[in-house]
Amino acid sequence: TRWTSESGWAEGELIPFGPLSLSPAAAVLHYAQEIFEGMKAFRHADGSVWTFRPEKNAERLQRSARRLALPELSTEDFLASVKALVAADEPWVPAVDGDEASLYLRPFMFASEEFLGVRAAQTVDYYVIASPAGNYFPRGVQPLVVWITDTFARAGAGGTGAAKCGGNYASSLLGKREAAQHGADEVLFLDSESHTAIDELSGMNVFAVTKDGRVETPVLSGSILEGVTRDSILRLAADRGYQVSEERLIAAELLERVASGEIVEMFACGTAAVITPIGEFRSADGTWTVRDGGSGELTLSLREELTGIQYGRVEDRYGWLTRLV
Ligand code: PMP
Repeated sequence: TRWTSESGWAEGELIPFGPLSLSPAAAVLHYAQEIFEGMKAFRHADGSVWTFRPEKNAERLQRSARRLALPELSTEDFLASVKALVAADEPWVPAVDGDEASLYLRPFMFASEEFLGVRAAQTVDYYVIASPAGNYFPRGVQPLVVWITDTFARAGAGGTGAAKCGGNYASSLLGKREAAQHGADEVLFLDSESHTAIDELSGMNVFAVTKDGRVETPVLSGSILEGVTRDSILRLAADRGYQVSEERLIAAELLERVASGEIVEMFACGTAAVITPIGEFRSADGTWTVRDGGSGELTLSLREELTGIQYGRVEDRYGWLTRLV
C-alpha cells in the first residue's frame, strides 16, 4: 500500500512477487528512510497457521516509523496486511515435520517520493514479502562462537539506535565481517556511548544465566533492539521462578564471570534464530568458553517451551498466538 501526506494510507492490494518500479531519485535510495519487521508464520499439526505476538511487531514498526519520520501504520492495518499475504501464500507455509521450518514474513516501509532535498518524504510505500525459512544457522542448534568487536558499533543511542531501520544493519556489516575473519559465527556489539557494556548481536539479543539461578540481559541502552523474543523469555524465565534482571552488563566483568564459572549459560535470541546457545567468546584479548562450550540446560528448555508454544505443542497460556489461516 502507499501513503501520501494528502490522502493517508490507500487500500492495500496483493500483487505477485517481482521487481518494484522506483525512481532513481526516490528518497530511500539516498537518505535511507526505511524501516522493517521480521516475523514468522507457523503451521500447527491440525494444518492451521499462526503467528507470534504480532501486536509487538506492529508497535515496534510504529516506534521505528516515528523515529524515521515515516507515517505510522495502525496495528489493525498491519495485522490485516500480514493475514492477507499469508492467506494467499498458505501453500508456502512449511508442513510440520519435526524440523523448525516456518514462513518468514518481512513487512517494510520506505520513502518512495522522488526528490533530492533532505526532508521527510510525503510519499511512502509499505510492503510485506514472505519466504520459507529453515534454521537461521547452517549448523543448526550448535553453540555459537561470538566475536566481541571493539572496532565497530552497530547503531547510536540518541540516533536511530533502537529503531529497526536498514541503516543500523548497514552499520553492522563490518562488525559481522570482522567476526567471520576471526572464525566466529556472530558479532557482539558494545554500547555506542561508553563502549564498555554489551548490547546485542547483529540480529539477536543476548542473555546470561548464573549458577545461582539468575537470568540477566542488557537493559535497553538506546542502541539495543527491543526484541519480541527477549520480552517473551523474560516472562517465561520469571514464571519458572528465576530471578530475572535487565541491567548494564560490562563486557570485561561478564567475561570474568564466564571464566570464574559464575555464569553457566549464555544464549542469543530472536525471531529468526529462536534461542541459540553461545559456547565461546573471542576478542582481541583472548578466548572465553562458557562452561564446557556446550548447550545449557535452561537454554534448551526455554527453546523447547517457546517453539512448543509457537508450533502449538504447548498450551498458549499467555495468549501469544494469532491465527492467520
Ligand atoms: N536485535 C537485532 C539487531 C535484530 O535484528 C533482531 C531481530 N529482529 C533482534 C535483536 C531480535 O528481535 P526479535 O526477537 O523481535 O526478533
